[in-house]
Amino acid sequence: MTALLRAERVSKAFGGVQALSDCTVEVARGSITGLIGPNGSGKTTLFNIITGYERVDAGDVYAGDRKITNAPPERAFALGIGRTFQLTRIFPRLTVMENMLVAAQHRGVRRWHNPLARAGGQADRRRATELLEFTGIAGHAKALADTLSYGQRKLLELAYVLVADPEVVLLDEPAGGVNPSLIQHISARIGALNASGTTFLIVEHNMDFVMGLCDRVTVLDYGTVVASGPPEIIRNDPRVLDAYLGTTEEDDDAPDP
Ligand code: ADP
Ligand code: MG
Repeated sequence: MTALLRAERVSKAFGGVQALSDCTVEVARGSITGLIGPNGSGKTTLFNIITGYERVDAGDVYAGDRKITNAPPERAFALGIGRTFQLTRIFPRLTVMENMLVAAQHRGVRRWHNPLARAGGQADRRRATELLEFTGIAGHAKALADTLSYGQRKLLELAYVLVADPEVVLLDEPAGGVNPSLIQHISARIGALNASGTTFLIVEHNMDFVMGLCDRVTVLDYGTVVASGPPEIIRNDPRVLDAYLGTTEEDDDAPDP
């Protein structure tokens, strides 16, 4: 079966740094696929390439059968590929609800997906409220986004990306810097979305989170795929233990607590 997303033999260098070398990663439709690897192994670069924020030096990206190599971010978005960023990109001086209404405006290009939804106004607000309730932050709708805790911001980012009804969501460190009880909550929400049909590709350092949630895990090391398979196999793969040896659990570029 054709993968929902596929990066095929992708290479990317930044100056002298080879961020990705001949890297093939597949995301099966309906899966929660994990992407792990030490800091600097190329995970965020792969996200940026899939979603059109960086161009490849070589290789291709496919959404189903459609080649989308080097397509701009709007194209990936229009094809139902949603993403969050390692450092959240919500608007700190807008309220939580206002952030959601901004997302609703961007959704215009995907409105064909849900023709009953009308632009602006009540329908957008209702959908926004629904998603804030789903993620568990509806009580903060009127608060400025920068008053949220780090974990709550991650939940707002998730709610934000869901406004577009994406088919596949790329999450960059959804549990990074988040307290343990909220991590449980985030994990459960992702599981619920997956059960109702949303596919995920998730970069995350928290191994319990990854191993508990993902059907498949791909491991990057120095821009190369060193292993790919079900979590119970990956967990004990010597190449994986090798790749993580000498690295800490903590992320250098993790945001403040
Ligand atoms: P990860 O997300 O796995 O920590 P990244 O994809 O962010 O890794 O980075 C992979 C490598 O590419 C690192 O060595 C990083 O410093 C480098 N890199 C990433 N983006 C850029 C950029 N825009 N300019 C220069 N170097 C970059
Ligand atoms: Mg990263």
